[in-house]
Amino acid sequence: MLRYRDQQDPTADELPDDAETFTPGEVPDDVDPAVIESYREDHPDRDGGTFTLETVTCGDDACDCTNGGGLHGPYVYHYYYSDGSLTSDYLGKPQGESA
Ligand SMILES: [Zn+2]
Repeated sequence: MLRYRDQQDPTADELPDDAETFTPGEVPDDVDPAVIESYREDHPDRDGGTFTLETVTCGDDACDCTNGGGLHGPYVYHYYYSDGSLTSDYLGKPQGESA
């Protein structure tokens, strides 16, 4: 099947500073490769792009994460271009993280 590719990969300065990027071929040890694989199977239109591991704040002023405490995560995200704008999907926690 021929498909026109107009997507491009996000560059490092478009991603959060603390994002650790990885490719589907080199998934970090604490990320379940099956999660990445099933995501790609479910979203063949989102080929390419960049996968990241990120720690985040939850936005709750009372939470430690906004008061110098530990951030939440890391969580797995996928950044890709959709219709020319940078979009991100949340893929969840790496394997072994408790909820
Ligand atoms: Zn928080």
